Amino acid sequence: MTFNDGARLDPSKVKRRRRAAGVGAGAGGLGVIVIFLASQLLGVDLTGLVGGGGVPGGGTQSEDQALEQCQTGEDANESVECRMVGAATSLDDYWAEAAPTIGLTDYVTPGFFLFSGSTDTGCGSATSAVGPFYCPADTSIYIDTGFYEDLRTRYGSSGGPLAQLYVVAHEWGHHIENQLGILERSRDGQTGPTSAGVRVELMADCFAGAWTAAASGTEDPSGRPLLEPVTDAQIRDALSAAAAVGDDRIQGTDANSHTWTHGSSEQRQRWFLTGYQGGATACDTFAVEVP
Ligand SMILES: [Zn+2]
Repeated sequence: MTFNDGARLDPSKVKRRRRAAGVGAGAGGLGVIVIFLASQLLGVDLTGLVGGGGVPGGGTQSEDQALEQCQTGEDANESVECRMVGAATSLDDYWAEAAPTIGLTDYVTPGFFLFSGSTDTGCGSATSAVGPFYCPADTSIYIDTGFYEDLRTRYGSSGGPLAQLYVVAHEWGHHIENQLGILERSRDGQTGPTSAGVRVELMADCFAGAWTAAASGTEDPSGRPLLEPVTDAQIRDALSAAAAVGDDRIQGTDANSHTWTHGSSEQRQRWFLTGYQGGATACDTFAVEVP
């Protein structure tokens, strides 16, 4: 997925969160082998999921910096950080228009933070090990951009630009679900292919597909198109990311559908395509018997 070189990004939509000097120094530094908890990939991160070490509002301090270096579509094409800003600029424009079509009349922009190693969030302290996640307590998306390298090397996704944007669009989808009051349904503790948790994940995949199809119609603050139309090769790129994080793919030969929390590779790809072809209004994964 390619941004138009001249398009203007809105760097205020994404911030890099750093721990203040002296706090947590050395933790999560180079040499630490990060083991991703597969079942939590791209997950809805709730309080119990992240480590209890952080004390929101106290204990540790962090600084947030806007990504002022990310100003144009050209920047978004060249660096992962600026690609995140481009994604946020486009997703926010898309959802401002699409939210009312699915009954969300008071859409607000989520927070979006990049971090390295570990970070404090409204859901507690989180490390890279949890993968990208959405925290409903502070309505914010958290991504360690090192995850994208892992997506490629560990899970065999192509890891290309659209795969990276898919991750953001999926987490943004959880924010939409949170505002709709649907996200909390995933807290019932159930697992398996038809569980509420899996339906919530598949809906986020579907929302990601809906945005992908509409992305070339999203505009920068001056009305210029942000993205070039998506190509078939790029769709395959996004589908490879969706497949790579399917529960069956992650579990391998020991795949046990009763424990699924995010859905199979087939389910995740199919719902991405459902959104891609039908838009956000086609994404009600609770309306069908078997999603
Ligand atoms: Zn998710």
